[in-house]
Amino acid sequence: MTILWEHYHTPKSIDETLELLTSYAGRARIIAGGTDLLVDMRATHEPAHEALVDITAIPELRTIRRDGDVFYIGAGVTHTQIVHSPELAAQATCLIESCGVVGGPQVRNVATLGGNVVHALPAGDGTVSLVALDAEAEVIHGGERRWLPIGELYRGPGLSLLDPTRDLLIQFRVRGTGSREATSFSRIMRPQGVALPILGCAVWVRLSEDRTHYESARACIAPTGPTPERTTVVEEALAGQPATAETIQAAIKIATEALHPRTSKYRATADYRKEMIGVLLGRTLTAAVERAQGG
Ligand SMILES: Cc1cc2nc3c(=O)[nH]c(=O)nc-3n(C[C@H](O)[C@H](O)[C@H](O)COP(=O)(O)OP(=O)(O)OC[C@H]3O[C@@H](n4cnc5c(N)ncnc54)[C@H](O)[C@@H]3O)c2cc1C
Repeated sequence: MTILWEHYHTPKSIDETLELLTSYAGRARIIAGGTDLLVDMRATHEPAHEALVDITAIPELRTIRRDGDVFYIGAGVTHTQIVHSPELAAQATCLIESCGVVGGPQVRNVATLGGNVVHALPAGDGTVSLVALDAEAEVIHGGERRWLPIGELYRGPGLSLLDPTRDLLIQFRVRGTGSREATSFSRIMRPQGVALPILGCAVWVRLSEDRTHYESARACIAPTGPTPERTTVVEEALAGQPATAETIQAAIKIATEALHPRTSKYRATADYRKEMIGVLLGRTLTAAVERAQGG
């Protein structure tokens, strides 16, 4: 039997975690729910880590709290915790919708939002909504504790800015939606699929005072590149335009021409994904506008 680690630590604080990582000098790795890490360790037969450092007993990383209109979501918060938050359901609806479709209940009960982000796949469901919510992440990177825009954490497919043998993702912050604002998430998944979707889309919209026009919008359609990014062509196509079906069709046309998803032998062809851009964008924008109009 292959031994994947020798020691397992369960620190109770951020300081204790950092002391452990420092003492192992790159030979220990952070684990949260383990739903990505353990699969990868078994599949790739990575060299054994001397130790795993489990961050799920650190209270600060396991809580969702609110300060005014800003939500702070610990990196060790599970998808199930997010789905069961009524405040997030009302004011960060797309995050509930994306975390609610990750894996099945067993996966959601242990898998964390932080793990989804550090795993760094552009189609991670939680990731797509965090990008549309314009989230920021508090990290300890290179020994320094700071807030970064979510996009800065991604370096390529499966490649995070954070080195999980030395760095720590602490929490996210997102501003909840106010009046005239709403979000929505949807994805296309193979019926037998258990991991990543064919395509995911999250949108955030703010309507004009009379709720007839888009004042501004954010969108993230992924995977359409090596990292999850804001789909700015859609945002520009919506800003200032009437909140009508015609505007959505115009945005879909622009997005379909501008985005070039690639073929994945496990998920779908590039052509199918391109076709689905319109389906998802139409679905999410329609839902977000209805919500922002109070429907
Ligand atoms: C059956 C199955 C179905 C799945 N379905 C989906 C799906 O539908 N959609 C989807 O997006 N994903 C899916 N996944 C992938 C996975 O469940 C998610 O990405 C999950 O959010 C990962 O979280 P975790 O806590 O398990 O991460 P872990 O596996 O514990 O960690 C992942 C990576 O992040 C690092 N890490 C974790 N936390 C921190 C931290 N706080 N600071 C620094 N580094 C950290 C670890 O070292 C590791 O490199 C599925 C996985 C399985 C096994």
